[in-house]
Amino acid sequence: MDIKRTKIVDIFDPNLIGQKVCVKGWVRTRRGNKNVQFVALNDGSTIKNIQIVIDLSKFDEETLKPITTGSSLHVEGMLVASQGKGQTSEIQAETIEIYGTADTESYPLQKKGHTLEFLREKAHLRPRTNTFGAVLRVRSALAFAIHKFFNERGFFYLHTPLITASDCEGAGAMFQVTTLNLNELPIDEATGKVDYTQDFFGKQTSLTVSGQLEGELGATALGAIYTFGPTFRAENSNTPRHLAEFWMIEPEVAFNDITDNMDLAEAFVKYCIKYALDNCRDDIEFLSQMYDKELITRLNFVLENSFVRLPYTEGIKILQESGKKFEFPVSWGIDLQSEHERYLVEQHFKRPVILTDYPKEIKAFYMKLNDDGKTVRAMDVLFPNIGEIIGGSEREENYDKLMQRIEELHIPMKDMWWYLDTRRFGTVPHSGFGLGFERLVLFVTGMTNIRDVIPFPRTPKNAEF
Ligand code: ATP
Ligand code: MN
Repeated sequence: MDIKRTKIVDIFDPNLIGQKVCVKGWVRTRRGNKNVQFVALNDGSTIKNIQIVIDLSKFDEETLKPITTGSSLHVEGMLVASQGKGQTSEIQAETIEIYGTADTESYPLQKKGHTLEFLREKAHLRPRTNTFGAVLRVRSALAFAIHKFFNERGFFYLHTPLITASDCEGAGAMFQVTTLNLNELPIDEATGKVDYTQDFFGKQTSLTVSGQLEGELGATALGAIYTFGPTFRAENSNTPRHLAEFWMIEPEVAFNDITDNMDLAEAFVKYCIKYALDNCRDDIEFLSQMYDKELITRLNFVLENSFVRLPYTEGIKILQESGKKFEFPVSWGIDLQSEHERYLVEQHFKRPVILTDYPKEIKAFYMKLNDDGKTVRAMDVLFPNIGEIIGGSEREENYDKLMQRIEELHIPMKDMWWYLDTRRFGTVPHSGFGLGFERLVLFVTGMTNIRDVIPFPRTPKNAEF
């Protein structure tokens, strides 16, 4: 037993046929008769299993007994062309070492046909299923594509802090970070409130909801940066599109206006989708076959068509004139609900839509005010099946206008002096956006619940594993 291990993803190379090989992995299935047994072995490197053929005249039954679904093996033998259909080659076992057994009574992933809900309860083992193996490989490839895209375009990867003292973003409720003893909080006599000067950082802190504000500091120094890291939102909405902990990519570019920003967003998502199609074909085909026959057509469709670019005001008009009865009524000034976004994308235009120039009241304080005084240079990218996948804007670079918005909104700016300094010293036009990584993975895999595209989802009342 001393041959070098070949990963199963590499074992189907026709040049290996006729050679002695070594594979290691987990048993997916075992079947056969009293002369010969067939074991499907998977090592996670590919959706494909390698078939191990065990001639029972060469092995005694007692040693083979523990080879059940979920057990782990080290197999050596001759790689031969396969007689069976559906596979090109198989291994005729010469030696088999059993690393670990998996009791058939208690191992939860027997054969197939588990619901995604059941597998969520088994998130510690579900990566061993075809579905989650495929999703996690696609997720990994997409993460790589993201770095590749920005690297090829001269962006710098900026690490923004996860713990923050600014609570002005308004993007979502924040998780507080503290080392104070919650059972014995120090109270400030004068105010009767918690005395955070005694807390670890000497002030109230939280987990970040976005790296954008620090991203702007990077962009106004390095020119073009992106962040790619975890983001935390205590959203108490149990939807198939929201996680409490998700990963976000936030490019920020000096001298880009809203049009440059839209061009970047469109090129970026298309690049990622194409990368996945080119590099994860087996996995995407599997997912398509299992869950969504239209998946590959839809991915190609997005690649081949340019995104519609439409001002919010015109979007509202289309919704009002649609004659459709929405659960949330439509009028100028409303924040669009998922049903509205999906109507525009899936029924009206039938392709991705970038909606721009939203009313300032429903968008963040830092977005650049248009000349009409009512709308801001925001841009949301809306996708079929997903709704909002990207939110971004051109930023207000004018110090006075930015301060005016901050005052109108009573944003606590005492800890934000550093952000304002970007507008005080060498301010420049700049733009950026945030892409929710899991929403991209949802789109590319065709999965429908965001809990199924992150290994260990964090949602209200759920932080298991
Ligand atoms: P939504 O309206 O869907 O809650 P948002 O307007 O709060 O999104 P932004 O603050 O603009 O979103 O964040 C940028 C991107 O991050 C969104 O376009 C989306 O892709 C993603 N995102 C936002 N909140 C979540 C979440 N709770 N879970 C996963 N992804 C999210
Ligand atoms: Mn939100």
